[in-house]
Amino acid sequence: MTERARLPVIVVKFGGTSVGDVARIKRVADIVAEQRRSDPARGIVVVLSAMGGETNRLVSLARSCSDSPDPRELDVLLASGEQVTVSLLAMRLCSIGVPARSMLAPQVQISTSAQHTNAMIEGVDTAAIGRILESGGVPVVAGFQGITDSGDITTLGRGGSDITAVAVAAALRADECRIYTDVRGVFSCDPRVCPSARLLERVSHEEMLEMASLGARVLHTRSVFFAMRYRVPLAVLSTFDGPFRPGLNGTWIVDEEELMEKQVVTGITHRLDEARLMIQRMPADISTMAKLFSALGARDVLVDMISQEAVGPGLVNVSITVADEQSSLALEVAREAVPELGAHGVSVERDIAKVSVVGLGMRYHTGVAGRLFRALERERIDVQMVNTSEVKVSVLVGRKFCEAAVRALNEEFFAPHAALVELSA
Ligand code: ASP
Ligand code: MG
Repeated sequence: MTERARLPVIVVKFGGTSVGDVARIKRVADIVAEQRRSDPARGIVVVLSAMGGETNRLVSLARSCSDSPDPRELDVLLASGEQVTVSLLAMRLCSIGVPARSMLAPQVQISTSAQHTNAMIEGVDTAAIGRILESGGVPVVAGFQGITDSGDITTLGRGGSDITAVAVAAALRADECRIYTDVRGVFSCDPRVCPSARLLERVSHEEMLEMASLGARVLHTRSVFFAMRYRVPLAVLSTFDGPFRPGLNGTWIVDEEELMEKQVVTGITHRLDEARLMIQRMPADISTMAKLFSALGARDVLVDMISQEAVGPGLVNVSITVADEQSSLALEVAREAVPELGAHGVSVERDIAKVSVVGLGMRYHTGVAGRLFRALERERIDVQMVNTSEVKVSVLVGRKFCEAAVRALNEEFFAPHAALVELSA
Protein backbone atom coordinates (compact mmCIF):
# COMPACT_ATOMS: atom_id res chain seq x y z
CA MET A 1 0.00 0.00 0.00
CA THR A 2 2.03 2.86 -1.28
CA GLU A 3 1.59 5.83 -3.52
CA ARG A 4 -0.43 8.71 -2.24
CA ALA A 5 -3.47 9.75 -4.22
CA ARG A 6 -3.08 13.28 -5.50
CA LEU A 7 -6.70 14.17 -4.89
CA PRO A 8 -8.33 14.19 -1.50
CA VAL A 9 -10.72 11.30 -1.62
CA ILE A 10 -13.37 9.51 0.38
CA VAL A 11 -14.36 5.87 0.07
CA VAL A 12 -18.03 4.94 0.42
CA LYS A 13 -19.15 1.34 0.73
CA PHE A 14 -22.71 0.04 0.35
CA GLY A 15 -23.74 -3.31 1.79
CA GLY A 16 -26.00 -6.00 0.35
CA THR A 17 -29.32 -4.57 1.54
CA SER A 18 -28.40 -1.13 0.18
CA VAL A 19 -28.01 -2.59 -3.32
CA GLY A 20 -30.68 -5.30 -2.85
CA ASP A 21 -32.77 -4.37 -5.89
CA VAL A 22 -32.86 -1.92 -8.78
CA ALA A 23 -34.76 0.75 -6.86
CA ARG A 24 -32.13 0.66 -4.15
CA ILE A 25 -29.28 0.77 -6.63
CA LYS A 26 -30.86 3.92 -8.04
CA ARG A 27 -31.02 5.38 -4.57
CA VAL A 28 -27.33 4.58 -4.02
CA ALA A 29 -26.55 6.33 -7.31
CA ASP A 30 -28.41 9.40 -6.05
CA ILE A 31 -26.43 9.39 -2.80
CA VAL A 32 -23.16 9.20 -4.72
CA ALA A 33 -24.23 11.95 -7.15
CA GLU A 34 -25.29 14.18 -4.26
CA GLN A 35 -22.01 13.60 -2.42
CA ARG A 36 -20.12 14.57 -5.56
CA ARG A 37 -22.23 17.69 -6.08
CA SER A 38 -22.01 18.92 -2.50
CA ASP A 39 -18.30 18.18 -2.04
CA PRO A 40 -16.70 18.73 -5.46
CA ALA A 41 -13.20 19.11 -4.04
CA ARG A 42 -13.04 15.44 -3.07
CA GLY A 43 -13.01 12.39 -5.27
CA ILE A 44 -15.28 9.46 -4.42
CA VAL A 45 -14.48 5.79 -4.68
CA VAL A 46 -17.43 3.42 -4.27
CA VAL A 47 -17.10 -0.17 -3.02
CA LEU A 48 -20.06 -2.54 -3.24
CA SER A 49 -21.32 -5.85 -1.87
CA ALA A 50 -23.41 -8.26 -3.88
CA MET A 51 -27.20 -7.92 -3.69
CA GLY A 52 -28.42 -9.11 -0.28
CA GLY A 53 -28.91 -12.88 -0.26
CA GLU A 54 -27.01 -13.36 -3.52
CA THR A 55 -23.84 -14.82 -2.01
CA ASN A 56 -25.93 -17.31 -0.02
CA ARG A 57 -27.74 -18.26 -3.20
CA LEU A 58 -24.42 -18.87 -4.94
CA VAL A 59 -23.14 -20.97 -2.04
CA SER A 60 -26.17 -23.23 -2.24
CA LEU A 61 -25.86 -23.49 -6.02
CA ALA A 62 -22.30 -24.69 -5.48
CA ARG A 63 -23.43 -27.20 -2.85
CA SER A 64 -26.01 -28.58 -5.22
CA CYS A 65 -23.23 -29.39 -7.70
CA SER A 66 -20.70 -30.76 -5.25
CA ASP A 67 -20.63 -31.83 -1.59
CA SER A 68 -17.31 -30.11 -1.13
CA PRO A 69 -16.90 -27.56 -3.91
CA ASP A 70 -13.36 -26.95 -5.10
CA PRO A 71 -12.31 -23.73 -3.32
CA ARG A 72 -10.80 -22.13 -6.42
CA GLU A 73 -13.99 -22.68 -8.40
CA LEU A 74 -16.12 -21.58 -5.46
CA ASP A 75 -14.30 -18.23 -5.46
CA VAL A 76 -14.88 -17.73 -9.18
CA LEU A 77 -18.57 -18.28 -8.50
CA LEU A 78 -18.86 -16.20 -5.31
CA ALA A 79 -17.04 -13.23 -6.80
CA SER A 80 -19.73 -12.95 -9.50
CA GLY A 81 -22.27 -11.40 -7.11
CA GLU A 82 -20.26 -8.18 -6.83
CA GLN A 83 -19.67 -8.08 -10.58
CA VAL A 84 -23.43 -7.66 -11.04
CA THR A 85 -23.85 -4.77 -8.60
CA VAL A 86 -20.80 -2.73 -9.68
CA SER A 87 -21.82 -2.83 -13.33
CA LEU A 88 -25.44 -1.91 -12.57
CA LEU A 89 -24.44 1.00 -10.34
CA ALA A 90 -21.89 2.29 -12.85
CA MET A 91 -24.54 2.15 -15.60
CA ARG A 92 -26.99 4.03 -13.46
CA LEU A 93 -24.43 6.67 -12.50
CA CYS A 94 -23.50 7.22 -16.14
CA SER A 95 -27.16 7.61 -17.02
CA ILE A 96 -27.60 10.42 -14.48
CA GLY A 97 -24.53 12.24 -15.67
CA VAL A 98 -21.86 10.89 -13.32
CA PRO A 99 -18.96 9.37 -15.25
CA ALA A 100 -18.45 6.08 -13.38
CA ARG A 101 -16.45 2.95 -14.09
CA SER A 102 -16.85 -0.47 -12.55
CA MET A 103 -13.65 -2.19 -11.48
CA LEU A 104 -13.12 -5.85 -10.59
CA ALA A 105 -10.21 -6.94 -8.39
CA PRO A 106 -7.85 -7.77 -11.30
CA GLN A 107 -8.53 -4.35 -12.81
CA VAL A 108 -7.73 -2.54 -9.58
CA GLN A 109 -5.02 -5.04 -8.65
CA ILE A 110 -6.20 -6.06 -5.22
CA SER A 111 -3.60 -8.70 -4.38
CA THR A 112 -4.34 -11.40 -1.86
CA SER A 113 -2.93 -14.61 -0.45
CA ALA A 114 -3.97 -17.80 -2.21
CA GLN A 115 -6.14 -18.98 0.67
CA HIS A 116 -9.35 -19.44 -1.27
CA THR A 117 -12.63 -18.33 0.36
CA ASN A 118 -10.71 -16.64 3.16
CA ALA A 119 -7.89 -14.77 1.43
CA MET A 120 -5.90 -11.96 3.07
CA ILE A 121 -5.34 -8.67 1.25
CA GLU A 122 -1.64 -8.11 0.65
CA GLY A 123 -1.74 -4.94 -1.40
CA VAL A 124 -3.98 -2.55 -3.29
CA ASP A 125 -2.56 -0.78 -6.31
CA THR A 126 -3.88 2.77 -6.48
CA ALA A 127 -2.72 3.59 -10.02
CA ALA A 128 -5.80 2.52 -11.99
CA ILE A 129 -8.23 4.00 -9.45
CA GLY A 130 -6.12 7.18 -9.41
CA ARG A 131 -6.39 7.58 -13.19
CA ILE A 132 -10.18 7.43 -13.07
CA LEU A 133 -10.30 9.90 -10.19
CA GLU A 134 -7.97 12.31 -11.95
CA SER A 135 -10.20 12.36 -14.99
CA GLY A 136 -13.14 13.29 -12.76
CA GLY A 137 -14.69 9.83 -12.76
CA VAL A 138 -16.05 7.63 -9.99
CA PRO A 139 -14.45 4.19 -9.65
CA VAL A 140 -16.99 1.58 -8.53
CA VAL A 141 -14.98 -1.26 -7.03
CA ALA A 142 -16.24 -4.82 -6.47
CA GLY A 143 -15.85 -5.69 -2.80
CA PHE A 144 -15.02 -9.09 -1.34
CA GLN A 145 -12.76 -10.21 -4.21
CA GLY A 146 -9.05 -10.29 -4.89
CA ILE A 147 -6.47 -11.82 -7.15
CA THR A 148 -3.48 -14.01 -6.38
CA ASP A 149 0.03 -13.65 -7.81
CA SER A 150 -0.83 -16.29 -10.35
CA GLY A 151 -4.01 -14.50 -11.43
CA ASP A 152 -6.62 -16.61 -9.65
CA ILE A 153 -9.75 -14.97 -8.27
CA THR A 154 -10.11 -15.14 -4.48
CA THR A 155 -12.69 -13.99 -1.95
CA LEU A 156 -12.01 -12.53 1.48
CA GLY A 157 -14.45 -14.46 3.66
CA ARG A 158 -18.12 -13.73 4.29
CA GLY A 159 -18.83 -10.09 4.93
CA GLY A 160 -15.45 -9.26 3.39
CA SER A 161 -16.46 -6.26 1.31
CA ASP A 162 -15.97 -4.10 4.42
CA ILE A 163 -12.34 -5.20 4.30
CA THR A 164 -12.05 -4.17 0.65
CA ALA A 165 -13.44 -0.73 1.47
CA VAL A 166 -11.02 -0.09 4.32
CA ALA A 167 -8.05 -1.50 2.41
CA VAL A 168 -8.81 0.73 -0.58
CA ALA A 169 -9.21 3.72 1.76
CA ALA A 170 -5.91 2.90 3.46
CA ALA A 171 -4.08 2.55 0.15
CA LEU A 172 -5.46 5.87 -1.14
CA ARG A 173 -4.84 7.58 2.21
CA ALA A 174 -8.49 8.55 2.00
CA ASP A 175 -9.89 11.22 4.33
CA GLU A 176 -12.50 8.75 5.50
CA CYS A 177 -14.21 5.47 4.74
CA ARG A 178 -17.99 5.54 5.06
CA ILE A 179 -19.80 2.24 5.42
CA TYR A 180 -23.45 2.57 4.40
CA THR A 181 -25.55 -0.27 5.77
CA ASP A 182 -29.02 -1.16 7.03
CA VAL A 183 -28.46 -0.02 10.62
CA ARG A 184 -27.88 3.52 11.84
CA GLY A 185 -24.50 2.78 13.33
CA VAL A 186 -23.01 1.17 16.41
CA PHE A 187 -25.30 0.87 19.40
CA SER A 188 -24.58 0.52 23.10
CA CYS A 189 -25.97 -3.01 22.70
CA ASP A 190 -27.99 -4.94 20.12
CA PRO A 191 -31.15 -2.86 19.57
CA ARG A 192 -33.09 -6.01 18.68
CA VAL A 193 -32.43 -7.32 22.17
CA CYS A 194 -32.88 -4.04 23.97
CA PRO A 195 -35.02 -1.29 22.45
CA SER A 196 -33.46 1.36 24.67
CA ALA A 197 -29.99 0.75 23.18
CA ARG A 198 -28.23 4.04 22.50
CA LEU A 199 -26.71 5.02 19.18
CA LEU A 200 -23.05 5.81 19.84
CA GLU A 201 -21.62 8.93 18.20
CA ARG A 202 -17.93 8.11 18.47
CA VAL A 203 -16.03 4.96 19.29
CA SER A 204 -12.31 4.29 19.12
CA HIS A 205 -10.86 1.78 16.69
CA GLU A 206 -9.71 -0.33 19.60
CA GLU A 207 -13.12 -0.44 21.24
CA MET A 208 -14.74 -1.27 17.92
CA LEU A 209 -12.25 -4.06 17.37
CA GLU A 210 -13.10 -5.54 20.75
CA MET A 211 -16.81 -5.10 20.14
CA ALA A 212 -16.66 -6.64 16.68
CA SER A 213 -14.79 -9.68 17.90
CA LEU A 214 -17.02 -9.99 20.97
CA GLY A 215 -20.18 -10.14 18.89
CA ALA A 216 -21.19 -6.73 17.48
CA ARG A 217 -21.95 -7.59 13.89
CA VAL A 218 -22.00 -4.19 12.20
CA LEU A 219 -18.49 -4.42 10.79
CA HIS A 220 -16.17 -7.21 9.81
CA THR A 221 -13.49 -7.60 12.50
CA ARG A 222 -10.67 -7.61 9.96
CA SER A 223 -11.89 -4.35 8.46
CA VAL A 224 -11.69 -2.67 11.86
CA PHE A 225 -8.23 -4.08 12.35
CA PHE A 226 -7.16 -2.58 9.02
CA ALA A 227 -8.73 0.76 9.90
CA MET A 228 -6.88 0.84 13.21
CA ARG A 229 -3.57 -0.16 11.72
CA TYR A 230 -3.70 2.41 8.92
CA ARG A 231 -5.56 5.00 11.00
CA VAL A 232 -8.47 5.28 8.60
CA PRO A 233 -11.40 7.19 10.13
CA LEU A 234 -14.45 4.99 9.61
CA ALA A 235 -18.09 5.94 9.70
CA VAL A 236 -21.02 3.53 9.82
CA LEU A 237 -24.43 4.87 8.85
CA SER A 238 -27.76 3.81 7.41
CA THR A 239 -28.41 4.20 3.70
CA PHE A 240 -32.09 4.63 4.42
CA ASP A 241 -32.11 7.27 7.16
CA GLY A 242 -30.83 10.36 5.41
CA PRO A 243 -27.40 11.93 5.89
CA PHE A 244 -25.08 11.76 8.87
CA ARG A 245 -26.70 13.37 11.93
CA PRO A 246 -25.07 12.95 15.34
CA GLY A 247 -27.22 10.85 17.64
CA LEU A 248 -29.69 10.01 14.87
CA ASN A 249 -27.74 8.41 12.08
CA GLY A 250 -24.11 7.36 12.05
CA THR A 251 -21.21 6.41 14.31
CA TRP A 252 -17.63 7.57 13.85
CA ILE A 253 -14.86 5.11 14.56
CA VAL A 254 -11.68 7.07 15.09
CA ASP A 255 -8.23 7.10 16.63
CA GLU A 256 -8.20 7.01 20.40
CA GLU A 257 -6.52 10.45 20.51
CA GLU A 258 -9.50 11.99 18.80
CA LEU A 259 -11.84 10.98 21.58
CA MET A 260 -12.10 13.87 23.99
CA GLU A 261 -13.73 11.91 26.72
CA LYS A 262 -13.18 8.23 27.15
CA GLN A 263 -16.34 6.44 28.14
CA VAL A 264 -15.92 4.08 31.03
CA VAL A 265 -18.22 1.71 29.20
CA THR A 266 -18.79 2.14 25.47
CA GLY A 267 -20.85 -0.89 24.61
CA ILE A 268 -22.24 -4.26 25.55
CA THR A 269 -21.94 -7.17 23.18
CA HIS A 270 -23.01 -10.78 23.23
CA ARG A 271 -22.23 -14.00 21.38
CA LEU A 272 -24.16 -17.21 21.29
CA ASP A 273 -21.75 -19.17 19.13
CA GLU A 274 -19.46 -20.45 21.86
CA ALA A 275 -19.14 -23.78 23.60
CA ARG A 276 -17.64 -24.76 26.93
CA LEU A 277 -15.47 -27.81 27.37
CA MET A 278 -14.81 -29.24 30.80
CA ILE A 279 -11.89 -31.55 31.47
CA GLN A 280 -12.87 -33.37 34.66
CA ARG A 281 -10.74 -34.31 37.60
CA MET A 282 -7.39 -33.52 36.08
CA PRO A 283 -4.20 -33.56 38.21
CA ALA A 284 -3.64 -30.02 39.43
CA ASP A 285 -0.12 -29.36 38.26
CA ILE A 286 1.42 -27.04 35.78
CA SER A 287 2.91 -29.67 33.50
CA THR A 288 -0.51 -31.29 32.98
CA MET A 289 -1.92 -27.87 32.12
CA ALA A 290 0.93 -27.34 29.67
CA LYS A 291 0.22 -30.69 28.01
CA LEU A 292 -3.48 -29.93 27.63
CA PHE A 293 -3.00 -26.51 26.05
CA SER A 294 -0.12 -27.63 23.84
CA ALA A 295 -2.35 -30.39 22.46
CA LEU A 296 -5.12 -27.88 21.72
CA GLY A 297 -2.69 -25.38 20.20
CA ALA A 298 -1.07 -28.03 18.01
CA ARG A 299 -4.45 -28.63 16.35
CA ASP A 300 -5.18 -24.89 15.95
CA VAL A 301 -7.92 -24.71 18.54
CA LEU A 302 -8.40 -21.07 19.53
CA VAL A 303 -9.12 -21.00 23.26
CA ASP A 304 -11.04 -18.05 24.65
CA MET A 305 -11.76 -18.31 28.38
CA ILE A 306 -9.98 -20.60 30.84
CA SER A 307 -10.84 -21.37 34.44
CA GLN A 308 -10.12 -24.11 36.95
CA GLU A 309 -11.82 -25.22 40.09
CA ALA A 310 -10.50 -27.58 42.79
CA VAL A 311 -12.61 -30.72 43.08
CA GLY A 312 -10.59 -32.89 45.41
CA PRO A 313 -7.07 -33.24 46.76
CA GLY A 314 -4.73 -32.42 43.87
CA LEU A 315 -7.56 -32.49 41.32
CA VAL A 316 -9.19 -29.75 39.27
CA ASN A 317 -11.95 -29.35 36.72
CA VAL A 318 -10.61 -27.21 33.89
CA SER A 319 -13.12 -25.29 31.77
CA ILE A 320 -12.33 -23.62 28.49
CA THR A 321 -14.49 -21.92 25.92
CA VAL A 322 -14.03 -22.11 22.17
CA ALA A 323 -16.04 -20.97 19.14
CA ASP A 324 -18.92 -23.34 18.45
CA GLU A 325 -17.48 -24.26 15.06
CA GLN A 326 -14.34 -25.54 16.77
CA SER A 327 -16.09 -27.39 19.57
CA SER A 328 -16.11 -30.81 17.91
CA LEU A 329 -12.41 -30.53 17.12
CA ALA A 330 -11.62 -29.31 20.64
CA LEU A 331 -13.61 -32.18 22.12
CA GLU A 332 -11.78 -34.69 19.96
CA VAL A 333 -8.36 -33.29 20.95
CA ALA A 334 -9.26 -33.21 24.64
CA ARG A 335 -10.65 -36.79 24.53
CA GLU A 336 -7.48 -38.06 22.93
CA ALA A 337 -5.42 -36.29 25.57
CA VAL A 338 -7.42 -37.53 28.57
CA PRO A 339 -5.38 -40.74 29.20
CA GLU A 340 -2.07 -38.91 29.01
CA LEU A 341 -3.35 -36.12 31.24
CA GLY A 342 -4.62 -38.63 33.79
CA ALA A 343 -8.00 -36.87 33.78
CA HIS A 344 -11.38 -38.49 34.33
CA GLY A 345 -13.17 -37.39 31.20
CA VAL A 346 -14.36 -34.45 29.19
CA SER A 347 -17.76 -32.93 28.51
CA VAL A 348 -19.05 -30.17 26.27
CA GLU A 349 -21.84 -27.67 26.83
CA ARG A 350 -23.33 -25.47 24.13
CA ASP A 351 -26.13 -23.84 26.02
CA ILE A 352 -24.08 -20.81 26.93
CA ALA A 353 -23.59 -17.18 25.93
CA LYS A 354 -20.82 -14.67 26.41
CA VAL A 355 -21.79 -11.14 27.38
CA SER A 356 -19.11 -8.45 27.38
CA VAL A 357 -18.79 -4.89 28.56
CA VAL A 358 -16.25 -2.86 26.55
CA GLY A 359 -14.75 0.58 27.18
CA LEU A 360 -11.38 2.31 26.98
CA GLY A 361 -12.16 4.17 30.19
CA MET A 362 -11.73 0.92 32.14
CA ARG A 363 -8.03 1.63 31.92
CA TYR A 364 -8.52 4.64 34.17
CA HIS A 365 -11.68 3.92 36.16
CA THR A 366 -12.38 1.28 38.72
CA GLY A 367 -15.66 -0.30 39.70
CA VAL A 368 -16.95 -1.62 36.38
CA ALA A 369 -16.83 -5.27 37.45
CA GLY A 370 -18.67 -4.43 40.68
CA ARG A 371 -21.47 -2.68 38.78
CA LEU A 372 -21.64 -5.53 36.29
CA PHE A 373 -22.00 -8.23 38.94
CA ARG A 374 -24.53 -6.20 40.92
CA ALA A 375 -26.65 -5.67 37.80
CA LEU A 376 -26.61 -9.41 37.07
CA GLU A 377 -27.31 -10.23 40.71
CA ARG A 378 -30.44 -8.08 40.62
CA GLU A 379 -31.70 -10.27 37.77
CA ARG A 380 -30.51 -13.44 39.55
CA ILE A 381 -28.25 -14.36 36.66
CA ASP A 382 -25.36 -16.64 37.59
CA VAL A 383 -21.97 -16.18 36.02
CA GLN A 384 -20.10 -19.35 35.03
CA MET A 385 -16.78 -17.88 33.91
CA VAL A 386 -15.13 -14.48 33.68
CA ASN A 387 -12.49 -13.08 31.37
CA THR A 388 -11.04 -9.58 31.45
CA SER A 389 -8.60 -7.40 29.55
CA GLU A 390 -7.64 -3.76 29.95
CA VAL A 391 -10.71 -2.66 28.04
CA LYS A 392 -13.34 -5.37 28.59
CA VAL A 393 -15.00 -7.69 31.06
CA SER A 394 -16.67 -10.79 29.60
CA VAL A 395 -18.90 -13.18 31.50
CA LEU A 396 -20.28 -16.55 30.52
CA VAL A 397 -23.96 -17.10 31.33
CA GLY A 398 -26.58 -19.68 30.48
CA ARG A 399 -27.91 -19.02 26.98
CA LYS A 400 -31.45 -18.45 28.19
CA PHE A 401 -30.23 -15.58 30.36
CA CYS A 402 -28.30 -13.83 27.60
CA GLU A 403 -30.90 -11.26 26.58
CA ALA A 404 -31.84 -10.45 30.15
CA ALA A 405 -28.15 -9.93 30.94
CA VAL A 406 -27.68 -7.56 27.99
CA ARG A 407 -30.74 -5.54 29.02
CA ALA A 408 -29.65 -5.38 32.65
CA LEU A 409 -26.19 -4.16 31.67
CA ASN A 410 -27.53 -1.61 29.19
CA GLU A 411 -29.79 -0.33 31.93
CA GLU A 412 -26.88 -0.20 34.39
CA PHE A 413 -24.44 1.59 32.11
CA PHE A 414 -26.60 3.49 29.61
CA ALA A 415 -29.93 4.40 31.18
CA PRO A 416 -30.17 8.20 31.67
CA HIS A 417 -29.71 7.83 35.43
CA ALA A 418 -26.47 5.85 34.86
CA ALA A 419 -24.75 9.00 33.58
CA LEU A 420 -25.81 10.90 36.68
CA VAL A 421 -24.51 8.22 38.99
CA GLU A 422 -21.20 8.40 37.17
CA LEU A 423 -21.01 12.16 37.52
CA SER A 424 -21.81 12.19 41.20
CA ALA A 425 -19.55 9.24 42.05
N1 ASP B 1 -21.17 -10.60 -0.69
C1 ASP B 1 -20.27 -11.09 0.34
C2 ASP B 1 -21.07 -11.78 1.43
O1 ASP B 1 -22.27 -11.81 1.39
C3 ASP B 1 -19.40 -10.02 0.90
C4 ASP B 1 -20.13 -8.90 1.61
O2 ASP B 1 -21.30 -8.68 1.39
O3 ASP B 1 -19.49 -8.21 2.41
O4 ASP B 1 -20.48 -12.32 2.33
MG1 MG C 1 -21.62 -6.80 5.72
